[in-house]
Amino acid sequence: MAARTPVIAGNWKMNTDVESGTALAKEISELSGDVSGVDKIVCPPFVSISSVTSAMSGSSIQIGAQNVSANSDGAFTGEISTSMLQGLVSHVIVGHSERRALNGETSDQVAAKAITAAEAGISPILCIGEDLSVRQAGNASSFVAHQLEASLDGYADWDSLIVAYEPVWAIGTGEAATSEQAQEMTAVCREVIRKLAPSAADSVRVLYGGSVNSGNVAELLAQPDIDGALVGGASLKAEEFSKLIAAAGSD
Ligand code: PEP
Repeated sequence: MAARTPVIAGNWKMNTDVESGTALAKEISELSGDVSGVDKIVCPPFVSISSVTSAMSGSSIQIGAQNVSANSDGAFTGEISTSMLQGLVSHVIVGHSERRALNGETSDQVAAKAITAAEAGISPILCIGEDLSVRQAGNASSFVAHQLEASLDGYADWDSLIVAYEPVWAIGTGEAATSEQAQEMTAVCREVIRKLAPSAADSVRVLYGGSVNSGNVAELLAQPDIDGALVGGASLKAEEFSKLIAAAGSD
């Protein structure tokens, strides 16, 4: 089995403005721009994509978007299409739990976004994860398996896919999943991929997300089915984010 290159992706969410985002990008680029052996991605707000790209030019840090429409064009006020993002980003987050919870996104819609993005040559970072009540009821594995399968309905471009297991109860709470819990669930995700596309299961990167920081990243990355991290809060602090990149990289 070919080794999977780890991924550290930062989701800035609705934080930073153009000026502060550009400054943050510059700092990250200076600290981590040359680290190899890891795919490094930052996902700023749409309005900062151009300036963040300029601030990071010459580095190997890639840029992602935080969302995309499944529609190609037309009367969708406030939405951003894949063709608008082509050439600007290499990745896009789809199905983040905040969009599922706050914007009512369904797994069907997430699947449509992932398919549209991949067709445009933009790699989807597809998020799934259970909330606390599901975990407490002992249903985390079956919930996540169903959610992932539904979110990949009709999806075919396995080379470009990144999956992010993000338990809702761990996002932004400071309470990360244990490495055992994260391993168990990323393995569940990999088995879903194996069922849908047997030949892709060992090459698709499966990330963990939820309160990752420099204190817990090494243990999480040491798990056999965890290929990196999707990072919220810690991606807004250049030094902390760079420590995560350093932990995943080879120099
Ligand atoms: C996220 O929002 O994807 C996330 C993982 O956030 P945090 O790292 O802040 O928990």
